[in-house]
Amino acid sequence: MSYVDRIIEDITKKNSDQPEFLQAAKEVLESLRVVVDADSIYEDNAVLERLVEPERIIQFRVPWIDDKGNVQVNRGYRVEFNSAIGPYKGGLRFHPSVNLSILKFLGFEQIFKNSLTGLPIGGGKGGSDFDPKGKSDREVMKFCQSFMTELSRHIGPDTDVPAGDIGVGGREIGYMFGQYKRLRNEFSGILTGKGLDWGGSLARTEATGYGLVYLVEEHLNQHDDSFKDKTVAISGSGNVAIFAAQKVYQFGGKPVTMTDSNGYIYDPNGIDLDAIKDIKLVQRARLTEYAAGHPGSTYTPTGEGKPWDLKVDIALPCATQNELDLNDAKNLLANGVKIVGEGANMPSTQEAADFLLENGVTFFPGKAANAGGVGTSALEMSQNSERLSWTFEEVDTKLRTIMQTIYNNIAQAAKDYGQEGNYILGANIAGFKKVAGAMLDQGIV
Ligand code: GLU
Repeated sequence: MSYVDRIIEDITKKNSDQPEFLQAAKEVLESLRVVVDADSIYEDNAVLERLVEPERIIQFRVPWIDDKGNVQVNRGYRVEFNSAIGPYKGGLRFHPSVNLSILKFLGFEQIFKNSLTGLPIGGGKGGSDFDPKGKSDREVMKFCQSFMTELSRHIGPDTDVPAGDIGVGGREIGYMFGQYKRLRNEFSGILTGKGLDWGGSLARTEATGYGLVYLVEEHLNQHDDSFKDKTVAISGSGNVAIFAAQKVYQFGGKPVTMTDSNGYIYDPNGIDLDAIKDIKLVQRARLTEYAAGHPGSTYTPTGEGKPWDLKVDIALPCATQNELDLNDAKNLLANGVKIVGEGANMPSTQEAADFLLENGVTFFPGKAANAGGVGTSALEMSQNSERLSWTFEEVDTKLRTIMQTIYNNIAQAAKDYGQEGNYILGANIAGFKKVAGAMLDQGIV
């Protein structure tokens, strides 16, 4: 049995209750066959066995008191997956679906994504099954303080630096940072995505969405093309989706959809981003609000259709894992889509990604395409270390260079292994090589 097959068999046995983790791990392992079969150093040093096993998983109780005075208990986690190339780095997700499978898949992806940024950050992820939806600011604060009371023992600017993810934005980072500072009597860069007046970086909020569009634009430019006059379907309506749409407009394209968990809006005139920002970021309301003020736009409830049913040139799934399945991939292809770029983490099922790739659609996996967020988090860490803050232009220019470099590296890796244009393979191999090299250098640990 080949090395990769043995590892796949082993993780399938050990993690049979973790489908998302197995999906993410198998995708990477499949890509690595060509690398590990060509050099026995990986098998001799059990690099893959070590890579698929988190260095540490912390699980803890998060008790808090709601506005009615009732005691609530949630589960908190931090998966510290791999620190070969830097302190664990990755977001915190607060969502009722959070469990160990989801966090291990996200932490695993983060190892390769962070490696691709070219910056010294290891892979980690954490979060809770807490649902911020419908909670008051006070309740969110109480929860965040309790969560950080335990998490504070495990993180540090040179150990593990969490950030935001689904359900964790500026408000939550603020409450957690305040609690850490109070507990430790220390003002340090233990989280990224901080407020601009207290250690945050300009352009961090925009970075994931902008970065996604920079990477796709780089690909288009290298093929004598651009976003100009392209119609773009985007899912999600959080930071990633909003700032991806903003950058698409800046490059002359037209984003026509956005989604939340209840449904999607289609605006053939182009999404009105000021309205979206107001609904989602200020009112914290639902997208149903949009249609009323925008004649010509339509709202389709979840279950009755998806943005992937529409005729678009480019699709940017920016909501959540497995939101684009084989059927959606077929619809996109039938409608002539040319590029799919993942703004979320693993938004396409394995079957959807394979189908798109096999049918000539250019496909950028999340670990490359959405790396601008964590890349800019690493820039925030640099600014915190030197106690300086860089201008928006400075950070944005660095972000664009990071995304261009990622594009070139994944394209080159795919070419080197005889699969030009297979950016899934390219991203997995380019991300792996650096981490594996570091693991080999550092011995069996
Ligand atoms: N949650 C984001 C991601 O999936 C950002 C992580 C970070 O900035 O550390 O990469």
